[in-house]
Amino acid sequence: MKKRVSILGSGISGIGAAILAKDKGYDVFLSDKNKLDSKVKSKLDSISVSWEENKHTYNLLKKSDLIIKSPGIPNESEIVIKLKKSNIKIISEIEFASLHTNSFVIGITGSNGKTTTTELIYHILKNSGLNVGIAGNIGTSFSKQIAENSFDYYVLEISSFQLDDIIDFKPNIAVITNLFEDHLDRYNYDFTKYIDSKLRITMNQENTDAILYNLNDKILKDAINRSGSKANKISYGINSSSFDGKNILIKNKKKTLMINIEELSLKGRHNLLNAMAAITVADLLKISKDSIRESLLTFKGLPHRLENVLTIQGVNYINDSKATNVNATFYALDSMKPQTVWIVGGVDKGNDYSELLPLVREKVKAIICLGVDNKKIIETFSPIIDLIVETESMDEAVKISRKIAEKKDTVLLSPACSSFDLFKDYEDRGNQFKEAVRNL
Ligand code: ADP
Repeated sequence: MKKRVSILGSGISGIGAAILAKDKGYDVFLSDKNKLDSKVKSKLDSISVSWEENKHTYNLLKKSDLIIKSPGIPNESEIVIKLKKSNIKIISEIEFASLHTNSFVIGITGSNGKTTTTELIYHILKNSGLNVGIAGNIGTSFSKQIAENSFDYYVLEISSFQLDDIIDFKPNIAVITNLFEDHLDRYNYDFTKYIDSKLRITMNQENTDAILYNLNDKILKDAINRSGSKANKISYGINSSSFDGKNILIKNKKKTLMINIEELSLKGRHNLLNAMAAITVADLLKISKDSIRESLLTFKGLPHRLENVLTIQGVNYINDSKATNVNATFYALDSMKPQTVWIVGGVDKGNDYSELLPLVREKVKAIICLGVDNKKIIETFSPIIDLIVETESMDEAVKISRKIAEKKDTVLLSPACSSFDLFKDYEDRGNQFKEAVRNL
């Protein structure tokens, strides 16, 4: 009899898992507590995957040989607890995908910079001629890629939620970009649990594998040292021999190539670290220095991450809508010149804004609050910023910014908060910003 695989959740990873499971000859059932999108239903019907919506029926799920759980479903949810009690094996989608491939895997995790670093590594590998795919928490699932392509290398962006349900999964090269408090609601407000979850990326690695980490992040450095990882530990960082203050140095025995950071379209200290991580991976894969250099210079950066929108009457407008936590905004402000009009606010996940005070004092001339509840922002910054305005729509926020900003100033959207009070998601927020700027 065919083995039965059930999938919890119908997002990108759930559908990907369904496609791969079907492709591998399983009897596949997908269950979602919410309503299924009509496109999802037709896709599942077209590959003969049975499904249910608006519920998880335990009696149907318990007949499974294996459950694949989408990262969005917490381990504390009623259905997961019940299935675990029945001793049914529950794994994550990346674990399932990894059972069906022998390709070389590069996995990137961390609190911020995952997408940028993943895309940059992919760009460098692809430009060098490698047969490489990109997947994970980035728009295409690992499972779907395995089912539909046969790449020799995969670059995977991996969230901590995806790591929570791995068993044997191991990347050949792992990268942890940084560690600080985020998503703590899913980890009982325990930072150690969140760190442990990120460290799972290296738990199955062997001494032929490598774990790369940013040595400037003390919490991360300590975590790596106590992780018990068997992999080669390789660090990168701003105070290392691969940065001279102005240039990134790519060295080998014969020569040293220099890249002036002014030439990169990726701006800011954080992106310098992302670039160093990517260079270290490329170096391990023996990609030529010239090819790495060229790829770094041609990488354009990603939308909603310190994205230059327009310069209007000498005022530069920058979209950093993806900054959904204080740390990301810290790096955005750090890379600004003085006289910045800063648009901030949204759903605060327990933010402590005080670490931004020195940068705000130095760089910010006015604050435009864009959120339903702006009390904490106003309380924190009113002692040092005279001009703080509350707004209720992106259009209003951009129009007021324009009135305040003068020639050579910058208007920066870097909210430090999630977007769900006034927007669908961070992309909607960033797109509304760009639209409002274009309409000025
Ligand atoms: P993630 O996928 O981890 O959310 P992104 O690359 O999408 O990371 O970037 C998210 C936000 O964090 C953006 O505002 C970006 O400018 C900022 N950021 C990018 N890289 C780093 C880094 N290494 N450290 C801190 N912040 C970063």
